[in-house]
Formats: sequence, structure tokens, C-alpha cells
Amino acid sequence: MGCRDNRAAMRAGAASRRVFKDGFPSVMISIEEAREILLGNMPARKTERIPFHQALGRVLAEDVAASADVPPFDRATMDGYAVRAADVRGAPADLVVGGEARAGGGVPAELRPGEAVAIMTGAPVPRGADAVQKVEACCASPCESRVTVLEPVEAGDNIAPRGREAKAGEAVLLAGRHVGPAEVALMASFGHAEAVVYARPSVAVLSTGDELVEFDESPRPDQIRNSNAWCLLAQLRLLGIEADYLGIARDDRARLRERMAEGLRRDVLVITGGVSMGEYDFVRDVFAELGVDILFSKVAIKPGKPTVFARRGDRLVFGLPGNPLSSLVTFECFVRPVLGRMCGMERPDLPRVQGTLLKDVRQTPGRTSFLPARAAWTERGWEAVALDWKNSADMIGFSKANATVVFPGGRDLLRGGEAVEIMLLPDFFAR
Ligand code: AMP
Ligand code: MG
Repeated sequence: MGCRDNRAAMRAGAASRRVFKDGFPSVMISIEEAREILLGNMPARKTERIPFHQALGRVLAEDVAASADVPPFDRATMDGYAVRAADVRGAPADLVVGGEARAGGGVPAELRPGEAVAIMTGAPVPRGADAVQKVEACCASPCESRVTVLEPVEAGDNIAPRGREAKAGEAVLLAGRHVGPAEVALMASFGHAEAVVYARPSVAVLSTGDELVEFDESPRPDQIRNSNAWCLLAQLRLLGIEADYLGIARDDRARLRERMAEGLRRDVLVITGGVSMGEYDFVRDVFAELGVDILFSKVAIKPGKPTVFARRGDRLVFGLPGNPLSSLVTFECFVRPVLGRMCGMERPDLPRVQGTLLKDVRQTPGRTSFLPARAAWTERGWEAVALDWKNSADMIGFSKANATVVFPGGRDLLRGGEAVEIMLLPDFFAR
């Protein structure tokens, strides 16, 4: 085991239980251990300054402060008449209409005792007034020069006082906040042209395999089209990351090395296929030649056992199994939590809920399975039914799923009616 391997292993607590063979972590670890290693090897996050309106979906890396009091003036929250509460205490009260205040209509003149000012929602309340009586509780004279206020009001009624929501200089959005439409609106309202957010990592996707051709090519009888790369690029896009596609590397040392070296110019390289290690020794050699330390290579997950995680300095490499569902599931379980955190997200993991399984399912025990499922929120709570699927290449079966049922590795049968954990897919609400 190399010196760098040792350091990385020490950084990740779970790694101390791993068994190395020829400098290679060959033991199968649990999903929890894999997670510990992943999160123990997170590179420092980078930040960038971008136009505020492009910050949707990003995470703030700095607080956003109010540039002025909100509201900026005592603001009417109803259409009606601005009055002194004292003048209408014995309502009905007859008042002279001293003017009008409209939103955007300038600063109204001061209200004198015995006067009312007709006021619209959003307009500044004139100095001297301390309440607004709503229009429904007033009766204007035909010439609109006088008004009878029919009901009394308390001081402060129907006025949002200046600075009630925020004072100038106060942090209104804290670093770590996900930027949604409301946050974009706030930055606009304070005139903040730019936001400091966590940078998205640069990511490259590389497929490997002699059997692969591109989607616009006609496969020979012994070939298949590369679908994993497109699946991964789509999964990355759902995380907000536009990744570079590096094409297909043939199963030969020089080609893989050259493509991997290109991929290592990004923050994260995601490789699919061919990294199940035992298969071709050259894969392991190429990792070593490029100075990439393998931190784990087998995880007790189904589908997806031969999942590789490696790093070179701050650059991370994920080697996902070639089977299409293995690639999809291991991305969600292992790549998403890391990339999401690199983007600043606090909880990038897919949501998991407790629900009722509707039909029995069986498995050979040993690894935790993620079974494609249909899940729904019903009046009885969350419910899920595992879908029929043939094997870890069955994307047709998986495409009907909106969730996965988590089947614990120690069990061989989950009965209909049992409580299970359901992991919702990232586009659950659209499926
Ligand atoms: P591997 O992990 O390379 O041993 O591949 C396992 C299985 O997944 C094989 O049947 C491959 O043909 C298939 N496979 C590998 N890469 C891809 C890919 N990019 N798209 C679709 N299937 C793939
Ligand atoms: Mg292969």
C-alpha cells in the first residue's frame, strides 16, 4: 500500500477495516462504510460570484444582507383611509379628506387632526396618521371631500411599519441557503446584482468497453449502444451539473490511460464499465500509473457491487459498474451525495420515507438491494409495490419506477404489509 493510500485510509475511518491485496482494497464493504469513506474524502468546496438571476438551484456561500429597511416606509396593507386612531375612537366619526396616497404616488403630506387621507394598499402612510381603516368600514361623501369612518381602529391597524421584516444591514439569507424563486426575488428587491455561491464541480463522463458504439451508430450483432453515459449525463443534469462526455475508451491500456488523464483535468471523473477490476488487470495498472488511489472497489449493494471510488489529490474518480441499472443506482447512492455536497447542498441524498410494501418480494440475502418500485402517498401513508424487473440490465423494467424499495441485505423475504424504506427517485414528483 502506497504512502498516499495510507493517508487517505486514515482520513476515512472506515478504511481501517479494509483489506488490501497488492495495494488494492479488495474487501466488500457496507454501504454505510462506503459513505463514510466518500464523505471523509470530500475536497474543499469552491465558490464563485455570479449574476443573482443565474443563482436559481445554487447554494449561497455568503450571507445576503438587506440593503434597506423592509418595508422601506410605514406601508398601508389595505385600501381605505389613513387616520389618527384617537380621531375615530367614538366612531362613527366625520373627517375631512385631506388628500390621497397611492403606491408610487410620492410622499403624502402630513395628516392634520380631524383629517383622513384616502390610501391604497402599498402606499406610504402620511406622517401624523397612526392607523388605516379599511374602505369597507368607511362611507365617503358624494364629492369625496369628507368621509365617515364607521368603526374605530387601534393605532397600528393595517400598517406594516418600516423595518418590520428586516432592518438595513441585517442578514436576510444565510450562507448555505438553497436559492429558489423567493431567494432570487429577495436579491432583486435589495438590488444585489451578484450572489456568491458554491461552484459546481467540473465533471467528465467516460464509458469503457469494446462492445460499445455511440447511439447514432449501428451496432454489430456483438455490440450494444452506449446508454450509460447518457443516463449519467441526465442524472448529473438533474443535480444541476452539465458534464463533459469523453466518449468510449476501448478496453486497452493506452486508450484508457489517455482518456482518464483527460478526465482527471476535471474535479470529478465518472467512468462506467470495465472497472470491476478483477476482469482486466490493466485497469488497476492505469489507476496506479496515473497516481490515482483506490479507496474502495466493492460495496454490498445490489445492483452495483463492483463500484470503485478513488482520488488523486482533490480530484475524485468514480468507477461505476457497466450494467445500466448498477450505474444508475450507484450514481444516486454514491456519486450524488458527494457532488451535491461539493455544490454546497446540505442534504443532496435522495429522500427516503417509511411506507408499506404492498406485495411480497424475495432476494438472495447478502447485499442491500434497491428494487425498482412505484410509490405513492395515499390516505394510508406511503405505499410501494416493487416492479418486475429481469436483471441489472433491464432499463425497460426500471423506467416504470418512480422510487426504489430498500431491501436490507440480511433479509431474504419482505412480506406485503411490512414497513419498508422507500427511496424516491430525483424526478419522483414528475413521474
Ligand atoms: P462491465 O462493467 O464493463 O463488465 O459491463 C457490464 C455489463 O454492462 C456488460 O453487459 C456491458 O456490455 C454493459 N455495459 C457496459 N458499459 C455500458 C454502457 N456504457 N452502456 C450500456 N451498457 C453497458
Ligand atoms: Mg466492460
